[in-house]
Amino acid sequence: MRVGTGYDVHRLTEDRKLILGGVEIPHAMGLEGHSDADVAVHAIMDALLGAAALGDIGKHFPDTDEAYRGISSLKLLEQVGRLLEQEGYAVENIDVTIIAQKPKLRPFIPQMEKNVAGTLHLLENQINIKATTEEGLGFTGSQQGIAAQAICSLTGLYEASMAVFDSERNCSGCGGCAKEI
Ligand code: MG
Repeated sequence: MRVGTGYDVHRLTEDRKLILGGVEIPHAMGLEGHSDADVAVHAIMDALLGAAALGDIGKHFPDTDEAYRGISSLKLLEQVGRLLEQEGYAVENIDVTIIAQKPKLRPFIPQMEKNVAGTLHLLENQINIKATTEEGLGFTGSQQGIAAQAICSLTGLYEASMAVFDSERNCSGCGGCAKEI
């Protein structure tokens, strides 16, 4: 099993839509960024890439690339999912915390989980998204920005089969198969 963490922050500003977990949330302000600035999906992608030792989203989707201007972060997540598949990794679970003073996110969380699960071809019980405030403290408390943290675990299908192979060759004995060698 491999684990990865992701952390992201975007600044709140007027004249931008607030998109979190692929859901457009009615709010007076939105997040600034090159893509749709979906801070939750960005943290998820960094956790997935980290667990697979594949770098980070800045490496795969540079914000200097016009191709990614205004793009839905779910589209980028789809590409990360394909990359993991190519490299032989399966997602076990993803857990996310969104840190925002406002607005109340609870009503939108089921749809966010559906979006992430659907994009990665996972079951909804493999994705958990939570929201919290920081009690008015710090940059999230003063509504200068929204932060998100994610953690995930992956199974490396290739690594799992190698572990079995190695244990067969170098078994120092549990008594069972050692007798057969
Ligand atoms: Mg970001």
